[in-house]
Amino acid sequence: MAAAYGVPHVATGDMFRAAVADGSELGKRVRPYLDTGDLVPDDLTIDLIRERLAEEDGFVLDGFPRTMAQAEALDAMLDEIGKPLDAVILLQVSDEEATKRLRARAEQEGRADDSPEAIRNRLRLYHELTELVVDRYQLAGIEVIVDGEQTVDEVFAAIQDALEGVVTRR
Ligand code: AMP
Repeated sequence: MAAAYGVPHVATGDMFRAAVADGSELGKRVRPYLDTGDLVPDDLTIDLIRERLAEEDGFVLDGFPRTMAQAEALDAMLDEIGKPLDAVILLQVSDEEATKRLRARAEQEGRADDSPEAIRNRLRLYHELTELVVDRYQLAGIEVIVDGEQTVDEVFAAIQDALEGVVTRR
Protein backbone atom coordinates (compact mmCIF):
# COMPACT_ATOMS: atom_id res chain seq x y z
CA MET A 1 0.00 0.00 0.00
CA ALA A 2 2.73 2.43 1.02
CA ALA A 3 4.70 1.57 -2.14
CA ALA A 4 1.66 2.37 -4.32
CA TYR A 5 1.53 5.86 -2.81
CA GLY A 6 5.30 6.37 -2.72
CA VAL A 7 5.44 6.86 1.05
CA PRO A 8 7.48 4.89 3.59
CA HIS A 9 5.88 1.92 5.34
CA VAL A 10 6.68 2.32 9.02
CA ALA A 11 5.89 -0.98 10.75
CA THR A 12 6.89 -1.30 14.40
CA GLY A 13 6.83 -5.13 14.21
CA ASP A 14 9.30 -5.08 11.27
CA MET A 15 11.52 -2.58 13.09
CA PHE A 16 11.58 -4.72 16.24
CA ARG A 17 12.31 -7.91 14.24
CA ALA A 18 15.16 -6.11 12.44
CA ALA A 19 16.60 -5.04 15.82
CA VAL A 20 16.42 -8.66 17.06
CA ALA A 21 18.12 -9.91 13.87
CA ASP A 22 20.90 -7.30 14.27
CA GLY A 23 21.47 -8.36 17.87
CA SER A 24 21.36 -4.66 18.87
CA GLU A 25 20.76 -3.50 22.44
CA LEU A 26 17.15 -2.72 21.50
CA GLY A 27 16.82 -6.18 19.94
CA LYS A 28 18.00 -7.87 23.13
CA ARG A 29 15.51 -5.90 25.18
CA VAL A 30 12.48 -6.54 22.98
CA ARG A 31 13.07 -10.17 22.01
CA PRO A 32 11.32 -11.72 25.03
CA TYR A 33 8.18 -9.69 24.30
CA LEU A 34 8.15 -10.64 20.64
CA ASP A 35 8.66 -14.34 21.37
CA THR A 36 5.65 -14.56 23.68
CA GLY A 37 3.42 -12.18 21.71
CA ASP A 38 3.44 -9.60 24.51
CA LEU A 39 3.49 -5.91 23.72
CA VAL A 40 6.83 -4.14 23.92
CA PRO A 41 6.63 -1.46 26.67
CA ASP A 42 5.14 1.83 25.50
CA ASP A 43 8.23 3.96 26.23
CA LEU A 44 10.48 1.85 23.96
CA THR A 45 7.87 1.71 21.21
CA ILE A 46 7.12 5.44 21.33
CA ASP A 47 10.84 6.37 21.24
CA LEU A 48 11.35 4.14 18.20
CA ILE A 49 8.49 5.79 16.31
CA ARG A 50 9.45 9.31 17.38
CA GLU A 51 12.93 8.94 15.86
CA ARG A 52 11.55 7.49 12.65
CA LEU A 53 8.72 9.96 12.05
CA ALA A 54 11.03 12.92 12.51
CA GLU A 55 12.88 11.71 9.38
CA GLU A 56 9.83 11.34 7.13
CA ASP A 57 7.53 13.65 5.25
CA GLY A 58 4.58 11.27 4.98
CA PHE A 59 4.14 7.66 6.08
CA VAL A 60 1.89 4.65 6.45
CA LEU A 61 1.99 3.45 10.05
CA ASP A 62 1.45 -0.28 10.48
CA GLY A 63 0.95 -1.93 13.87
CA PHE A 64 1.15 1.37 15.75
CA PRO A 65 -0.50 2.69 17.92
CA ARG A 66 -1.64 -0.41 19.79
CA THR A 67 -2.35 1.15 23.21
CA MET A 68 -4.03 4.36 24.38
CA ALA A 69 -0.69 5.68 25.70
CA GLN A 70 0.83 5.17 22.24
CA ALA A 71 -2.15 6.89 20.56
CA GLU A 72 -1.82 9.89 22.87
CA ALA A 73 1.93 10.08 22.30
CA LEU A 74 1.35 9.89 18.53
CA ASP A 75 -1.13 12.79 18.69
CA ALA A 76 1.43 14.89 20.54
CA MET A 77 4.20 14.01 18.05
CA LEU A 78 2.01 14.80 15.04
CA ASP A 79 0.94 18.09 16.61
CA GLU A 80 4.57 18.98 17.12
CA ILE A 81 5.52 18.32 13.49
CA GLY A 82 2.23 19.73 12.16
CA LYS A 83 1.14 16.58 10.31
CA PRO A 84 -2.30 15.31 11.30
CA LEU A 85 -3.40 11.78 10.36
CA ASP A 86 -5.37 11.66 7.11
CA ALA A 87 -7.05 8.35 7.84
CA VAL A 88 -7.02 5.30 10.07
CA ILE A 89 -7.75 2.02 8.30
CA LEU A 90 -9.17 -0.81 10.38
CA LEU A 91 -8.73 -4.18 8.69
CA GLN A 92 -11.49 -6.21 10.29
CA VAL A 93 -10.77 -9.93 10.64
CA SER A 94 -12.43 -12.39 13.04
CA ASP A 95 -10.32 -14.18 15.64
CA GLU A 96 -11.04 -17.48 13.85
CA GLU A 97 -9.81 -16.20 10.49
CA ALA A 98 -6.78 -14.45 12.07
CA THR A 99 -5.85 -17.68 13.87
CA LYS A 100 -6.20 -19.69 10.66
CA ARG A 101 -3.98 -17.26 8.73
CA LEU A 102 -1.34 -17.05 11.45
CA ARG A 103 -1.18 -20.87 11.71
CA ALA A 104 -0.64 -21.04 7.95
CA ARG A 105 2.10 -18.39 8.23
CA ALA A 106 3.72 -20.36 11.06
CA GLU A 107 4.12 -23.29 8.68
CA GLN A 108 5.59 -21.11 5.93
CA GLU A 109 7.77 -18.67 7.88
CA GLY A 110 8.22 -20.20 11.33
CA ARG A 111 7.84 -16.90 13.22
CA ALA A 112 8.27 -17.49 16.97
CA ASP A 113 5.18 -15.43 17.76
CA ASP A 114 2.98 -17.56 15.53
CA SER A 115 2.96 -20.40 18.08
CA PRO A 116 -0.56 -21.28 19.34
CA GLU A 117 0.11 -19.69 22.79
CA ALA A 118 1.58 -16.50 21.31
CA ILE A 119 -1.34 -16.20 18.86
CA ARG A 120 -3.83 -16.48 21.74
CA ASN A 121 -1.88 -13.89 23.71
CA ARG A 122 -1.71 -11.46 20.79
CA LEU A 123 -5.48 -11.73 20.18
CA ARG A 124 -6.18 -11.27 23.91
CA LEU A 125 -4.03 -8.13 24.03
CA TYR A 126 -5.72 -6.83 20.89
CA HIS A 127 -9.15 -7.10 22.51
CA GLU A 128 -7.95 -5.79 25.86
CA LEU A 129 -5.81 -2.84 24.74
CA THR A 130 -5.96 -2.12 21.02
CA GLU A 131 -9.75 -2.14 20.66
CA LEU A 132 -9.83 0.98 22.84
CA VAL A 133 -7.59 2.68 20.28
CA VAL A 134 -9.97 1.56 17.51
CA ASP A 135 -12.90 3.16 19.39
CA ARG A 136 -10.92 6.34 19.87
CA TYR A 137 -10.30 6.85 16.15
CA GLN A 138 -13.89 5.89 15.35
CA LEU A 139 -15.06 8.67 17.66
CA ALA A 140 -12.65 11.08 16.00
CA GLY A 141 -14.39 10.25 12.69
CA ILE A 142 -11.21 9.41 10.77
CA GLU A 143 -11.52 5.64 10.81
CA VAL A 144 -12.44 3.61 7.74
CA ILE A 145 -13.39 -0.04 8.20
CA VAL A 146 -12.24 -2.48 5.54
CA ASP A 147 -13.24 -6.15 5.47
CA GLY A 148 -9.87 -7.86 5.88
CA GLU A 149 -11.29 -11.30 5.13
CA GLN A 150 -11.48 -10.57 1.41
CA THR A 151 -8.70 -11.51 -1.01
CA VAL A 152 -5.49 -9.46 -1.00
CA ASP A 153 -6.55 -7.70 -4.25
CA GLU A 154 -9.99 -6.87 -2.85
CA VAL A 155 -8.52 -5.50 0.38
CA PHE A 156 -6.07 -3.39 -1.65
CA ALA A 157 -8.90 -1.99 -3.79
CA ALA A 158 -11.05 -1.25 -0.72
CA ILE A 159 -8.20 0.65 0.96
CA GLN A 160 -7.56 2.57 -2.25
CA ASP A 161 -11.24 3.57 -2.40
CA ALA A 162 -11.12 4.67 1.21
CA LEU A 163 -8.02 6.79 0.58
CA GLU A 164 -9.51 8.39 -2.55
CA GLY A 165 -12.35 9.55 -0.30
CA VAL A 166 -9.84 11.11 2.08
CA VAL A 167 -7.91 12.89 -0.66
CA THR A 168 -11.15 14.25 -2.19
CA ARG A 169 -12.30 15.52 1.20
CA ARG A 170 -9.07 17.50 1.75
P1 AMP B 1 3.52 -7.29 14.25
O1 AMP B 1 4.55 -7.58 13.21
O2 AMP B 1 2.85 -5.95 14.04
O3 AMP B 1 2.53 -8.40 14.41
O4 AMP B 1 4.29 -7.15 15.65
C1 AMP B 1 5.05 -8.24 16.16
C2 AMP B 1 5.36 -7.98 17.62
O5 AMP B 1 6.15 -6.78 17.77
C3 AMP B 1 4.15 -7.77 18.53
O6 AMP B 1 3.56 -8.99 18.94
C4 AMP B 1 4.80 -7.02 19.70
O7 AMP B 1 5.58 -7.88 20.51
C5 AMP B 1 5.78 -6.09 18.97
N1 AMP B 1 5.10 -4.83 18.58
C6 AMP B 1 4.86 -4.39 17.31
N2 AMP B 1 4.23 -3.20 17.32
C7 AMP B 1 4.07 -2.88 18.62
C8 AMP B 1 3.46 -1.79 19.30
N3 AMP B 1 2.89 -0.77 18.62
N4 AMP B 1 3.48 -1.78 20.66
C9 AMP B 1 4.05 -2.79 21.36
N5 AMP B 1 4.61 -3.87 20.79
C10 AMP B 1 4.63 -3.92 19.43
